[in-house]
Amino acid sequence: MIQITMPLGFLGTVYREIRQALVDMGEMFGLLNQPAEITDKAEAPKLAVAGGAIRFEDVKFGYDPSRPILKGVSFEVPAGKTLALVGPSGSGKSTIGRLLFRFYDVVEGAVKIDGQDIRDITQHSLHQAIGVVPQDTVLFNDTVLYNIAYGRADATREEIEAAAKAAKIHDFIISLPEGYETKVGERGLKLSGGEKQRVGIARTILKNPPILLLDEATSALDTQTERDIQDSLREMGQGRTVISIAHRLSTIADADEILVLDAGEVVERGRHEELLAKGGRYAAMWARQASDMQTGA
Ligand code: ATP
Repeated sequence: MIQITMPLGFLGTVYREIRQALVDMGEMFGLLNQPAEITDKAEAPKLAVAGGAIRFEDVKFGYDPSRPILKGVSFEVPAGKTLALVGPSGSGKSTIGRLLFRFYDVVEGAVKIDGQDIRDITQHSLHQAIGVVPQDTVLFNDTVLYNIAYGRADATREEIEAAAKAAKIHDFIISLPEGYETKVGERGLKLSGGEKQRVGIARTILKNPPILLLDEATSALDTQTERDIQDSLREMGQGRTVISIAHRLSTIADADEILVLDAGEVVERGRHEELLAKGGRYAAMWARQASDMQTGA
């Protein structure tokens, strides 16, 4: 009996983690259909994390061979640093996130984490190393406790509460009639966009991954909430390697490097001040957004 239940228990955990990752990624990237099957190599080792440095080496990729989407993208995010991806809609920002997660394999080039090609390691270890914070966190029809602990079945109550505190949602939770036992989701208490995102942040803090993939567009939130969430995301990013898909330029001014993508190519790269001084694409995007903000567009 033990021989049967133990592997099943383990599979349950793996399944939940994969499902969670898929739910977050699906939510984040609007994936509708299941991508082509990606399998682990025989005897593939686990990712050996040494800080979570990310390298894209001349990555070429297309969902369809006849239509290249990324046309040779290279960058490096040293461990603990932040890279922001900006560019017009359809330029390939989310595609980079999907490739990092190995939802698809690159056509040419390589994606490496701490020097290991992600095609050579197990997908489970890869997914464990990456925390995804989508714009719109999916809540399950269950308690707040369950929703925060999702994917970490072994988490203790103390760990869960510590994560909620770090995500600044603990005080809100204990003000609810049933506290952590309050049912949320479609059939329970409806949380606001900001509260849902904080549950997502708490979930990720609990997972404690070395790498974060953030979708920073928080257009559904009011400015103050957005600013508060932004602060929490920044705090969570401390000591982790972060790739942030940014739609609002104001949120990325302190990134270690900004890549400006257009039609699958890096057209500019550098820090915020450097790119502003250059007076090119980024500077133009910045000027446009600043004037939109003034006119309230
Ligand atoms: P946005 O800012 O609008 O989210 P993005 O820069 O993240 O855009 P991607 O989602 O990476 O852009 O899309 C890049 C290109 O790849 C687009 O032309 C898009 O139509 C195409 N694409 C994205 N997902 C798929 C898919 N599953 N199958 C085929 N083409 C896709």
